[in-house]
Amino acid sequence: MKIAVFPGSFDPITVGHVDMVKRALPLFDEIVVAVGVNSTKKTLFTLDQRLEWIRQVFASYPSVRVDFFQNLTAHYCQRIGARFLLRGLRNGSDFDYEKTISQLNHIVGGGIETVFLIAQPEFSHISSTIVREIMVGGGDATPFLPAEIHISPELPKG
Ligand code: ADP
Repeated sequence: MKIAVFPGSFDPITVGHVDMVKRALPLFDEIVVAVGVNSTKKTLFTLDQRLEWIRQVFASYPSVRVDFFQNLTAHYCQRIGARFLLRGLRNGSDFDYEKTISQLNHIVGGGIETVFLIAQPEFSHISSTIVREIMVGGGDATPFLPAEIHISPELPKG
């Protein structure tokens, strides 16, 4: 059974994330979209909210599971029997960062392979960071969000 973990903060999940998972479906028997919980990293949305949105988005995909984990991604993969990590590459900075992480995960995770998909051009400018900035600034982030997500514009405008 080929299981891949697609780890991330998903704060919030964007159309870029969704595209990655959909394109990776033919490669794996199961994809686990896993929210990494990092107590030192402040998020805009709660873990429950982020999980709920991801579950809604993939509700009709039987081979996609949604979960969360603490501590090392590599250890989480070992725990659930996943031998693959899925990550997206949008640009050179993603590559530089991901290269090191993937090499570390290969060692720490006992041979875990990271599979990279290059972002499609129409999604390569989209990041959760940009989406959060738009929302906090009072803008409409709808074009970057999956159709299942309806976020009220009543967010704190700091
Ligand atoms: P992290 O905090 O681990 O970077 P993110 O939620 O920002 O988590 O991203 C999770 C994964 O999704 C990463 O591999 C990232 O490169 C990928 N990703 C994010 N946005 C896009 C996009 N627009 N197109 C393709 N991949 C993306």
